[in-house]
Amino acid sequence: MPLIRAAVLSPVEGLFTYRLPDEFAACARPGSRLRLPFGRAAREGFLVDFEGTEKPGLKSVTEVLPEELSLPPDLLELTRWSAEYYLAPWGEVLMAAVPSGVAKKSRARRTDAGGPAGGPPGLASADAGGPDEASPGAPRVVSPGPVAAPTPTPEQAAAIVALEAALARGGFAPHLLEGVTGSGKTEVYLRAAEAAVRAGGQVLVLVPEIALSPQLHARFEARFPGRTTVFHSRLTPRERREAWLAARRGETAVVLGVRSAVFAPLPGLRLVVVDEEHEPSYKQMEGLRYHARDVAVKRAQACGATVLLGSATPSLESRANALRGRYVPLGLTRRVDGRPMPEVRVVDMRDRAQRRRSQVLSEALLDAMGEKLGRDEQIILFLNRRGFASTLQCRSCGEVARCPRCDVSLTLHRQPPGLRCHYCGRREPAPEVCPKCSGPDLKLAGAGTQRVETELERLFPGVPLVRMDLDTTRGRTSHRDLLQAFEERRASILLGTQMVAKGHDFPGVTLVGVVSADVGLYLPDFRASERTFQLLTQVAGRAGRGDQPGTVVVQTYFPEHPAVTAAARHDSVGFASAELEERREFHYPPAVRMVSLRLGGPDEAAVRAAAGDLAARAARHPHAGAVERLGPAPAAIPRIRNRYRYQLLLRSADLRALRAMTLDLAPGVASRGRAVRLEVDIDPVETL
Ligand code: ADP
Ligand code: ZN
Repeated sequence: MPLIRAAVLSPVEGLFTYRLPDEFAACARPGSRLRLPFGRAAREGFLVDFEGTEKPGLKSVTEVLPEELSLPPDLLELTRWSAEYYLAPWGEVLMAAVPSGVAKKSRARRTDAGGPAGGPPGLASADAGGPDEASPGAPRVVSPGPVAAPTPTPEQAAAIVALEAALARGGFAPHLLEGVTGSGKTEVYLRAAEAAVRAGGQVLVLVPEIALSPQLHARFEARFPGRTTVFHSRLTPRERREAWLAARRGETAVVLGVRSAVFAPLPGLRLVVVDEEHEPSYKQMEGLRYHARDVAVKRAQACGATVLLGSATPSLESRANALRGRYVPLGLTRRVDGRPMPEVRVVDMRDRAQRRRSQVLSEALLDAMGEKLGRDEQIILFLNRRGFASTLQCRSCGEVARCPRCDVSLTLHRQPPGLRCHYCGRREPAPEVCPKCSGPDLKLAGAGTQRVETELERLFPGVPLVRMDLDTTRGRTSHRDLLQAFEERRASILLGTQMVAKGHDFPGVTLVGVVSADVGLYLPDFRASERTFQLLTQVAGRAGRGDQPGTVVVQTYFPEHPAVTAAARHDSVGFASAELEERREFHYPPAVRMVSLRLGGPDEAAVRAAAGDLAARAARHPHAGAVERLGPAPAAIPRIRNRYRYQLLLRSADLRALRAMTLDLAPGVASRGRAVRLEVDIDPVETL
């Protein structure tokens, strides 16, 4: 009997050798999906190769599943590469890449969990994003019927010509499309996709969140009726399996999906589009910490496809790649139909005169709102903080309500009332008096969306309003319902967190108000400024997309901050060059590559000791001279869910040295269940 090695669908490190009964010899090949005995259970896995060493007690493959369930060779290789690059077990990558339970027998066991039992907790919510603004619902989009494609603007036409030429030449060709908000990037995606499909190819389109992209989805559906398949985290196992098979058989022209769709089987892949390529949600923050944009580029490189990364605010990584000549730059510098960019007014909230009617909404913003509402125009208000107030603080002793399990302050909510931890979900009633000194005067600091809603009800009674944040979008269709209410003008004001800043195209919106530009601005993270600039630019870009010009009012206590001033000037290039200069000076990506080693555990002394030990090993490492180390130090949030967190950052311009050191320090990553756990984050997007 021949021997095979298999990657088993489980987060266990390593490959496993099995005997392959002769009856399967004819149909088994690398990529074949197998049913296997594994421990005491039956599992599925993929055949990797025909090697292995005979030893007593080897088990036999139970079944080789039908060919259509196998992984095409390029995808098998992509999952292998991802496992190696992100230092994850191959089986864990495969679990993210393929629908669970494709075979009948295993289906019954696995439907509830959304993944094999015993999998890491992160995988069930593979596309849920960070702890705060996560879990989008996933509406089905009703296609609006045939829509005539607009005639491209000269800038769009130039980008389309370049992409068509790249597609015609074939081969790996990455492009970065920097297009200001409202410049019609989607039309460029659609035309490039049409060219790829005309040539018999398939297209992969990645979006940060499906629920927030119903318009993009509808535009693809209208252009490729019945040939667009959607991949997202809220598909039922059956839907996911069907989507996977349709793509695998080449029946679908376009796969549109969130980050795990980067692993969709596409035998004829010609074009990869990554919309809003700068979005941090492309990076999975737990479990398998992969970056879908980076994997997408890698995939295109391996199969010789054209890549189109699009954004109004490209990540500094992609911009650096364009500057170095690795990516072809494409630009859309103007909005379609000659529409002007919105005028941005920055309001200094230190000025008390601005806070006459409200502590939260300035005179300037209230005046602008009154004017727009009088003309029956629409308004988007953005505040990237949910809840009522970010903290409750005692005016006499200064005590702040904190989560007993996490080192963060508790957020006050009005609906349902009480204090809530945004990291672990803990709820408790809000105290009447200070729990420490019994002082009666508790102050609310840091307004959230619920507070703004209350203010709006007071100041604009009767004006219909939609609030969109994690607390109002827990239902499966709530995103769609809220966006639709606003689109159909049943509401005049759309108030919300970063969910309202995304690619929405509402022509009736003539005013965007940023309630506070400062949330996140001073987070102890090297990307805080970039992230703020991107959010401000994106949300500002929602204004003036119709016939009426748009206005933006940005409220801030730091009106001189470069992220604020550059966003007000629509100066993406200027912001990026200053920020790139800082990154070079202070040794942050993209000037260097970075790895975050995070240690966590319930016993602080043990975690600290392990972190010290790790740092000492790093210091003794042969590459210590080429790899800079920061820390070990308690993480910016030193404790979450009663687990203490320490961090050691490695960074170097020498990728080989950095990888060599990481590989030597990393063993133990997969050893789960120990008192101290090490998590390795390659190319982290945040270091909190
Ligand atoms: P963004 O660059 O912000 O992603 P969109 O792709 O959403 O912009 O396009 C903005 C609007 O402009 C959409 O309503 C789209 O239908 C419209 N549009 C795109 N291209 C053209 C064009 N060439 N002529 C007229 N309208 C266009
Ligand atoms: Zn907590």
